[in-house]
Amino acid sequence: MHPTRRRVLGLAAWFALVVAGAGSAAAAPSLKGRAVWAHPRDAGTTEASVTAFVDQLARANVNTVVMEVKTAGGIFWPSERFAEAVVAEYRAFDFPAVLIRESHKRGIAVHAWFFDFAEGADSYVARQHPEWLARNPEGQPTTSEMLRGQPYRLAWMCPARRPGYTDQWLVPLIVEFATRYAVDAIHHDYVRYPGDLAPDTYCFCDDCLRELPKYASYYSPSRPDDALLSPFDRPHLEAHWERSPRVLPPNWDQYSREMKSRLLLDGSFFPGGHRDLDYFLYEYRVHWIAEFTRLAFDEARRARPGVEVSAAVFKNPVQSGRFIGQDWRRFAGFVQYLMPMDYRGHYAGDFETHLGLLAESIQQQKGWARDFPHLWIGVAATQLYDEERLPLVRMRALVTSGGAPSDVRAQFDLVSGRLKSFAPDLHASAAAYVNAPSNAEELVKRIDTFLANPPAGYFPPEKLVRTLDVVKQQGVEGIVIFSTSGLTTFKLWETAGGFFAR
Ligand SMILES: [Zn+2]
Repeated sequence: MHPTRRRVLGLAAWFALVVAGAGSAAAAPSLKGRAVWAHPRDAGTTEASVTAFVDQLARANVNTVVMEVKTAGGIFWPSERFAEAVVAEYRAFDFPAVLIRESHKRGIAVHAWFFDFAEGADSYVARQHPEWLARNPEGQPTTSEMLRGQPYRLAWMCPARRPGYTDQWLVPLIVEFATRYAVDAIHHDYVRYPGDLAPDTYCFCDDCLRELPKYASYYSPSRPDDALLSPFDRPHLEAHWERSPRVLPPNWDQYSREMKSRLLLDGSFFPGGHRDLDYFLYEYRVHWIAEFTRLAFDEARRARPGVEVSAAVFKNPVQSGRFIGQDWRRFAGFVQYLMPMDYRGHYAGDFETHLGLLAESIQQQKGWARDFPHLWIGVAATQLYDEERLPLVRMRALVTSGGAPSDVRAQFDLVSGRLKSFAPDLHASAAAYVNAPSNAEELVKRIDTFLANPPAGYFPPEKLVRTLDVVKQQGVEGIVIFSTSGLTTFKLWETAGGFFAR
């Protein structure tokens, strides 16, 4: 099937060239944005490897690459000012310079991808400036927490504190990058508060405990001890809000950190009224995340006039505003390319259910995104393959931990048919184990080898095509695929490239 398919694609590409040469735009790819998210390790650390990587993008009709330049682990350019944060392999090699030069030669735009508020537990800035860390009501950073039985490894930084991480570290990094490189856009990721643990417990750092009551006008700075009470002459308690009575209790200064945090999260605007102070906490968080996008945009534009900004955001800004401080509708004016991460993992249900929910989401997003010039939908290619991948992952875990043979068999049965066609050796090995458990190491090794380099076709290309079709049918301007390493491992470059050529 493959040689034929390649010949057909080749012909289509040739035809597109001929028609484009004749001055018609009809055969140009119909999606304006054909993008991928990428990791530096996919491009390597030499001129030759980066060039080969960009050639791969060009072959797949990609016209925008969103490349990590700052992760939780450090930065990927040879900065002198931020030398301690540079990832070791990138101290001598100017990776962004080569990537941008080679990409622009091929008409590919480069967005520089920043992990905004997520740092690593051991990252330079988290160790050097613990006072910039976001804190919970006990005064502890996110690295003090456990998630699914494991220590939580991301050190979330306080977005609100000034001076702090935002204005002293993150924005200066963005400015240095934009000054130094002819990048097309800065890309925000983790532009939010933590969400996978305790969404309501950050940030209660000293700065936020002081600033939130000011932000929400819980007292008058010029009359700090005045209760500002007026006659309660209306039937509803909350109907008396406009004169801004003092919300903080008289002995606020004597409250402990836990008590202050608890009041700011669970308290009431009026004593005895609704427990509504959480509204103002969420509003404060939304405000500071949006303020960061404003600051980053203004400073990046000052450093490089005309530079644009893109952002990876969650699928529903109404909900992400509440849970992670990311109401991305408020990024309008400071972000030009919205890239909602409409990954399968963010939807409930099986593959078909997900396709329906995805279409529904995109229609909502088009409304929420109406003040943004570009809406490009993010698709995580590898997450489409839970049915083909997870049974193998679960089998491996069961075999390693000496799980019941019937449980191993249940997982095996889910993929047995595909394995028989695409990996007869692994199929035989697993079938033998299921019938008479022995030689567990051999089976684990075979599963690992298979998952590291699965044969083309095991992960059915149709699932990616169907998903991309659903996105395109919603009438959006572009698609961003996560990620280049996933396309490589799952052998989906030709599929993605063929789709982008249409
Ligand atoms: Zn804070």
